[in-house]
Amino acid sequence: MRTSRAAAISVGVALTAVMGAALATPAVAVDPEPAQEPRVAVEYFPEPGGEGRQTEVPVNTPVTSGRSAARSLAPSAETTDGEVGKLSVTGPSADRLDVVIVGDGYTAGQQDAFHTAAASKWADITGIEPYSSYRGLMNVWTVDAVSAESGITGDPTADVTKDTALGSYFWCSETERLICADIDKVASYAAKAPEADLVIVVSHSTKYGGAGYSGLEAEGYPFDGVSTLSSDNAQSSMIAAHEIAHSVGLLADEYTYDSYGTWTGGELPDINSSTFTADRMAANRSKWYRWLGETDPTGGTVGTYEGSSYYPFGIYRPTSNSLMRALNVSEFNLPGREAMIAGFYREANALSSKVGTSSAVLRTSRIQVSRAELTGLAAPELRWYVDGVQAERAQGLTSVLPAALGVRADGRTHTVTVESRDRTDSIRDPLVRAEATERLTWTVKASGRKAPKHH
Ligand SMILES: [Zn+2]
Repeated sequence: MRTSRAAAISVGVALTAVMGAALATPAVAVDPEPAQEPRVAVEYFPEPGGEGRQTEVPVNTPVTSGRSAARSLAPSAETTDGEVGKLSVTGPSADRLDVVIVGDGYTAGQQDAFHTAAASKWADITGIEPYSSYRGLMNVWTVDAVSAESGITGDPTADVTKDTALGSYFWCSETERLICADIDKVASYAAKAPEADLVIVVSHSTKYGGAGYSGLEAEGYPFDGVSTLSSDNAQSSMIAAHEIAHSVGLLADEYTYDSYGTWTGGELPDINSSTFTADRMAANRSKWYRWLGETDPTGGTVGTYEGSSYYPFGIYRPTSNSLMRALNVSEFNLPGREAMIAGFYREANALSSKVGTSSAVLRTSRIQVSRAELTGLAAPELRWYVDGVQAERAQGLTSVLPAALGVRADGRTHTVTVESRDRTDSIRDPLVRAEATERLTWTVKASGRKAPKHH
């Protein structure tokens, strides 16, 4: 992920301190002081295919029984507890959006079932555009979490309790379909993967349910969002597809609450909500004006449809329905797609090279780059430049010699630049196009070295 390492490290230190404090507390069950228990925002979907709802839940699973920590989980050398697997690793973590999938309610002997479920959930999510075309910008890791018991608390009924590695449970906040988890435990497993930008908890159950946590960075965690979903319910996959869009695409919810009435505030920063109707949006050249009138993958036409960001009146969304409104459609609208692609490029780099750009290279030393494999909607293009002038014959090459590009042995310093562009039709905003254009530049030292006569 393309963020400052220093910031990530300081958050990591804070988290270690938090987890250290948690370990120091007695293993005996005690009722937590309600005032001390941090709470975070979650979104859930009470019915398959329906619209979402928001609430707040405790960060960690409230103690529900008097089980000891020793009984709870004592991983032996024979289990795979904590083992990291590569579900889809496409490049260096520094240049990828890293997704970590952790299973809950899987015993030592059920870890194969967890891996199957994780692969199946990821296949569901990446069956949706633009996840599908841009999965090459993501790494997906699995971390085995061995539970003492199979299945999770609240399945099938509210009175069922299970002793599991992540403490995930239905009936969170007295809502049947809301699956919460112990976020400290989730974080300690996720930390075993090389990097966690997004975390998905796959809870072992056939019952529909899940949730999306947000705002976790503010609580000291190294990632902001966690999605929960049930493993063996196909409709649960849509929950994660929706939640990742909040984190990556910064998309707003397009559903509404009747009780919210009319939005009377100004324009929100949300990319897919606007107080403008189509005529004014076009006149102001704001929000999704470039897409107005286009036929949309969700069906229908991009316009301004009243009701968005929870308010049924006075604020508009781009399409009648979309994955940001209800889970009965498995498509983002065109403005949503563009925002997602912008997010992928914000969090990841399509272009990587093992040849460092901080020190000069020789004109006779090879520069190799690797490019994320992008398909479908994406239209990648690779160009090379010497001192800012395109070396047209090198277009598309991933391995070049500066000398062969035309860098001369004239004793001067030159630059070689590689540029990765994405000419996808799914981007119309020039700022997003710029975000999707990446460059690496090397200084080439030709001084004091003669060019080989034959090469
Ligand atoms: Zn949402």
